[in-house]
Amino acid sequence: MRDDSPNSWESRADSFSLYGFTDLPSVHERGAVVVTHGKGPYVYDVHGREYLDANSGLWNMVAGFDHPGLAEAAKAQYDRFPGYHAFFGRMSDQTVLLSQKLVEVSPFEKGRVFYTNSGSEANDTMVKILWFLGAAEGNPQRRKIITRVNSYHGVTAVSASMTGKPYNSVFGLPLPGFIHVGCPHYWRFGQDGETEEQFTERMAKELEATIIKEGPDTIAGFFAEPVMGAGGAIPPSKGYFQAVQKVLKRYNIPLIADEVITGFGRTGNTWGCETYDFTPDAIISSKNLTAGYFPMGAVILGPDLADRVQAAAEAIEEFPHGFTASGHPVGCAVALKAIDVIMSEGLAENVRTLTPLFEEGMARLAENANIGEWRGKGLMGALEAVQDKATKTPFDGSLSVSERIANTCTDMGLICRPLGQAVVLCPPFIMTPAQMDEMFDKLEKALKKVFAEVA
Ligand code: PMP
Repeated sequence: MRDDSPNSWESRADSFSLYGFTDLPSVHERGAVVVTHGKGPYVYDVHGREYLDANSGLWNMVAGFDHPGLAEAAKAQYDRFPGYHAFFGRMSDQTVLLSQKLVEVSPFEKGRVFYTNSGSEANDTMVKILWFLGAAEGNPQRRKIITRVNSYHGVTAVSASMTGKPYNSVFGLPLPGFIHVGCPHYWRFGQDGETEEQFTERMAKELEATIIKEGPDTIAGFFAEPVMGAGGAIPPSKGYFQAVQKVLKRYNIPLIADEVITGFGRTGNTWGCETYDFTPDAIISSKNLTAGYFPMGAVILGPDLADRVQAAAEAIEEFPHGFTASGHPVGCAVALKAIDVIMSEGLAENVRTLTPLFEEGMARLAENANIGEWRGKGLMGALEAVQDKATKTPFDGSLSVSERIANTCTDMGLICRPLGQAVVLCPPFIMTPAQMDEMFDKLEKALKKVFAEVA
C-alpha cells in the first residue's frame, strides 16, 4: 500500500515527522495518509484516494472540509485586519463581538471569556484561574484538581495531568495534586446486581469520600466532559451530573464542563450540559467553536466565577495571563461565522435529524456477536468490541482489534477511530443520510472481516 521510494510522501513523512498519537508499527507498515484537500465530509490523499471521514477530522470539522462561508469569513478578516493580540487593554473588534456572543449563547446569564489557541490551553488557563482565585481569596491551599479515569483534557503538563489515561506516566505525569475518580461507564464498571441508579450513587459517594480524604478546602475544582470523548464516547450514567453536582456544592467546589467536543451541537443541543440538564460554573470550549477552521479555545466563566476572578484581578490591578494569539481577530471572525453556521444555518438541526439514523445504524452493528455495546449521544458514539458478549470479556490486547478494524476501514475509504477496544464515530454535522449509510455499510463489512480473523 505504501510507496517506499525515497522521495515518496510516505517516506518523507516517516523521515521528518515526530508522529504524535500514532501507532508507529502500523504507520511504518502502511505509510501515513497524506491528505491534500476535502469536499463535504470526504478527504483526499496524495494518491487521489477518497475517504469518508467519520471522525470529522479530530471531532472538529463539523461543517465539512470545504465550507465556503467559513473560508470567506477568514479571508475577509485577513484582508481587513490579519492579526492582533488581547494584551494591555487592546483587542480587536471581532474579539469583543465573539465574547459577547459566547456569553449570549452560553447557559449563563452573564459571564466573561478568555481565549487560548487550543482546548489544552483552555483547561490549563481554567486551572490557573482557580489557583489565582484560591490565592486571592485567602485559600492558597485550594490547588487540587479532580477529574475522572478515562477523561481527556489535553496534553500540556497541566491538562495531561488532568487526563485520566495511563499513557501519561511516560512523562512522569500526573503532577502532584491531580486526582482521578471513577469513570461513570455503567456497562463496564457497574457491579453484578447493581442498578444504574445505584452505580451513579456509588460514583457520587466515591467523589465525596475522595474530597473528604484530600481535605475539602484543598480542592480547587472538578472538571468533566459531559460525554467523555477520547475515553471512548462514554455518556454519563443516569443522573450522574445531578449526583456529583450535589456533592460539589456541599463543599463549594466549582464544576467545570469541558465541552471541547460536546460544545456547539454534538449531542443535539448547543451544550452537553444542556443535554444532561445541569449548569456548570464554567465551560471550556474549542474544536467546533471554529468548526476546525482556526485553532482556538475559550474559557467561558459563569457569573459567580466571573465576578470573583474580576474582583481578584482588580485587587492586584491585573490578571497576569495570556497568549500572543489570544482572541486572534481571524479566529474570532471565523468563530462568529461558525456559531452562525451551526446554530442558524441548519447544522444543529441536521444533527437532530440524523441522530435517529445514527442510533439505528449503531444498534444494527451492535447486533454483531463481537460487539458488547454501542453507546453515545447525538452524533458521537462507540462500538465496543468484545471476545465474549455475555461476559463482556475484551479481546487479548495483542490482537489490536480496534486498530485492525480502523485500518480495514481506511482501506475501504472510511476513517474511523480506534480507542481502547472500541471504534468511535463522530461524523460531521453536514452528513447526508446516504453518506451515513455508506459509513455504516463500510464499517459493517470491516467488522465482519476482522472478527472472522480474530474471533
Ligand atoms: N478537552 C477535550 C474534551 C478534548 O477532547 C480535547 C481534544 N481532543 C482537549 C480538551 C484538548 O484540546 P486540544 O487538542 O485543542 O489541545
